[in-house]
Amino acid sequence: MQTIYNFSAGPATLPRSVLERAQAEMLDWNGQGTSVMEVSHRGKPFMAIAEKAEQDLRTLMNIPENYKVLFLQGGGRGQFFSVPMNLAQRGDLSQHLVSGQWSQIAVSEAEKYMQAEVVAKTQTRDDQLWVPDQSNWEINDKAAYFHYCSNETVDGIEINWVPKSKKVPIVVDMSSNILSKEIDVSDFGIIYAGAQKNIGPSGLAVVIVREDLVGLARADTPSVFDYQQQVNNDSMYNTPPTFSWYLAGLVFEWLLAQGGVKAIEQINTQKAALLYECIDSSDFYRNNISAENRSKMNVTFQLADNSLDAAFLEEAEKLGLVALKGHRFVGGMRASIYNAMPLEGVKALVSFMQTFERTKT
Ligand SMILES: *Cc1c(COP(=O)(O)O)cnc(C)c1O
Repeated sequence: MQTIYNFSAGPATLPRSVLERAQAEMLDWNGQGTSVMEVSHRGKPFMAIAEKAEQDLRTLMNIPENYKVLFLQGGGRGQFFSVPMNLAQRGDLSQHLVSGQWSQIAVSEAEKYMQAEVVAKTQTRDDQLWVPDQSNWEINDKAAYFHYCSNETVDGIEINWVPKSKKVPIVVDMSSNILSKEIDVSDFGIIYAGAQKNIGPSGLAVVIVREDLVGLARADTPSVFDYQQQVNNDSMYNTPPTFSWYLAGLVFEWLLAQGGVKAIEQINTQKAALLYECIDSSDFYRNNISAENRSKMNVTFQLADNSLDAAFLEEAEKLGLVALKGHRFVGGMRASIYNAMPLEGVKALVSFMQTFERTKT
């Protein structure tokens, strides 16, 4: 079978060894004679892997003890309303940095519950997209929280600094770059991520929340989305997405075996550098994101002659390089190169891009 390198933005490629293990355990998991999907979430065997997954994530991200880790349903967007409902009363103020599509959607959702204020947006500077840093705006002390997205999956924009704030908790949507690089969890009030980019199957959301931000929910918050209810019940107030949780646990084990976040960060840096070098070294391809905001997870690029887009995608696919079409809002191409994308996949893509350029010029 031809090797397929899947550059999908999400649901995205998973480590092959993880899928092989899940396959091997499918019919007889943990000596139970059933799959992991068919056992009670409250039984000892499942509770054990649920706890191990949390412990491994705590190790990988060095999560301080005063943070709770929740495994919830509703994906990334589920948190777009869960955050306002859990942190504030109706009509309170939230502040937002809008760096691309996802942080904009988070504002639209927050507006249903909050007075959501945008402090700054991505700008064009020297013909490049750039996210204004904090010397250009301020966080209002009266805000219940400040929200931003550390990696804009659609646009290919990443933010490598963390907003500073004395009182106002920083809430970050880390759906597409969680576990891709070392961070300091204590910089944040809440970190959340839909799982389908760097963690596991879709539908699951991982929420890392500082203890003092639990228990503040509005009275009309649905119980399954109430952090306090879920903390009280170890994320099992309702039946959790057990298979996704199990698979996330396998991904965490895989990541630990790779040497953890520090080790994968080095490979991620190498992968992104290879691709951006290829784009920058020719006039055939281009990327218009400022160097400091170029995403290491979602590399967006355009062909100077976009009449070649269809041929590019078709020829790439013949070589097993799939899902490179950019998001419909942005156009062009996007190579999503999350943790599970091996260096060989990026090398194969670069080699194809160089060959394609040669045959078309
Ligand atoms: C994918 C994504 C989401 C949405 O996740 P869903 O699970 O589809 O709700 C939100 N934010 C970011 C940054 C994403 O990449």
